[in-house]
Amino acid sequence: MYEKGDSCGVCGGDGRISNAFGATKTCPGCSGSGRRGEDFGFRDVTKTKAAQGRGPAGATADREKDGKVFLSADGAKLAREVRDCTHLSDAAKAALMGEITQYEATHGGCTSTFQKKIRKRLRPGA
Ligand SMILES: [Zn+2]
Repeated sequence: MYEKGDSCGVCGGDGRISNAFGATKTCPGCSGSGRRGEDFGFRDVTKTKAAQGRGPAGATADREKDGKVFLSADGAKLAREVRDCTHLSDAAKAALMGEITQYEATHGGCTSTFQKKIRKRLRPGA
């Protein structure tokens, strides 16, 4: 959605302005982006984001709200099991944690299949 009104009103979209001596400098209105900034009232970032990445169980919304990776109840439980696992190295735990958060980020939660897969690797000698 680009309209004429999206250009910075100070520099007209160039991102630079000239002073009386003919030198150019970065536009103070848009910091050089050429786009109109925060004063543009109706820009609704939240709405756009929600439409892009809606996952099941509201996972995406929760993640965006506090800026952290969201863990579902299942994911949190799984993460606890990984953390409490006594025979895994810290590096192995970190790798598993990474897989869980990554999986949750893309799937919006942990499927039972995924939980089984992770738990299998928590067993001694797996
Ligand atoms: Zn500008």
